[in-house]
Amino acid sequence: MPVETELYELLGVSIDASEDDIKKAYGRKAKEHHPDKNINDPEASQKFQEMAAAYEILSDSQTRHIYNTHGMEGLSGPSGPGGMDAADLFSQFFAAGNPMFGFDFGPDGGGGGRRKGKGEDSVIPYEVTLEDLYNGKSVKMNMEKEIVCGQCKGSGARGHAKPKACATCDGQGWTNTKTRLSSGRYGMSQARCTECKGVGEKLKEKDRCKKCKGEKTVKEKTRQEIFVDKGMSDRQRIILAGAGDQQPGIPAGDVIFVLKATPHESFERSGNDLLTNITITLSEALLGFSRIILTHLDGRGVKMTSPPGKIIKPSDSIVLRGEGMPVYRRPDERGDLYVIFNVEMPDESWLKSVDVKAVEAVLPPKRVDVDPQPEIVDEADFEESDIVDFGEGYDDDWEDDDEDDEDGEPDCRPQ
Ligand SMILES: [Zn+2]
Ligand SMILES: [Zn+2]
Repeated sequence: MPVETELYELLGVSIDASEDDIKKAYGRKAKEHHPDKNINDPEASQKFQEMAAAYEILSDSQTRHIYNTHGMEGLSGPSGPGGMDAADLFSQFFAAGNPMFGFDFGPDGGGGGRRKGKGEDSVIPYEVTLEDLYNGKSVKMNMEKEIVCGQCKGSGARGHAKPKACATCDGQGWTNTKTRLSSGRYGMSQARCTECKGVGEKLKEKDRCKKCKGEKTVKEKTRQEIFVDKGMSDRQRIILAGAGDQQPGIPAGDVIFVLKATPHESFERSGNDLLTNITITLSEALLGFSRIILTHLDGRGVKMTSPPGKIIKPSDSIVLRGEGMPVYRRPDERGDLYVIFNVEMPDESWLKSVDVKAVEAVLPPKRVDVDPQPEIVDEADFEESDIVDFGEGYDDDWEDDDEDDEDGEPDCRPQ
């Protein structure tokens, strides 16, 4: 007589049940308590997990023997017999999104996002410009989604035909494989049965609904409208709850648009602030200006005045308060616009056109020699250069002799 019987009770089998009985009982129970079929029962997934763990222990003769002789205590603790820690096993298996727990939650599922007992979400990337995020935008889109077949009302069957248990998975909907856990212990991982797509049942060819060919759902064209609100960010999600693919018996999944902001040629965004570069002339830098310096993301001109008496140096920055991005959900509030100035020097044709002596007379004086003056002074020649050549003269021939040179292209240089 086992010291504990709780696990047997969970599966509804007697303490002398055969391996086969245990497997069948678990298949039945798991189907009955599957969270997808018990969406109104908040404890469904808990029960389901407990049963899976009970099966885990009782389906293995070694762990079953330990459980029979020592109870759960015998299976707990890192030094427990058989090297298996039941508490650990529970936690490893049922940690959220554990990939070991092999139900197919779809391409975006498993790790999160998807609520239990709801259809698969459709995740659609949607490209937006910075103008879209600044001004807001509504977009109408033609889409296709799965809806429950109207002909068979989602049974997939013709008339009153009934599906038969799937032979591949014994009607369980999944197949078991033993997998080593990282700790060196092993666990059972469950993969959805490909034959019956995890349903556990299959309809014969002739019993299938004509309209959906037994698929239970058919494709339907729909038109969706999404609103890109002012101030939304790159990677922000717009969720149309319940607008996703339908499956019989469970609520439809969501359609999730994930915004992808394209880079802007003039503005850079950080949070609610914007940054831009403005080029001014030497005259403007020295003498001030009052002009439209940029066209904003809504097409407005932005005028600013740099008063006479103020000099703007290259790389100087200013901030225009309230000219940044609208704040998401509070579009009357805005971030700030930072402006970095480039100062454009006049070109040589300008120099030729002016009285150089007069320019020299008005400009601040030239510098004198370095102080203290070095004892030896060489006259150096110079030529125009490109800064990317900096460091190019370095002789790395010794590296070329190395047989193990990884890229094999030691002479390759960035252009
Ligand atoms: Zn199957
Ligand atoms: Zn149908």
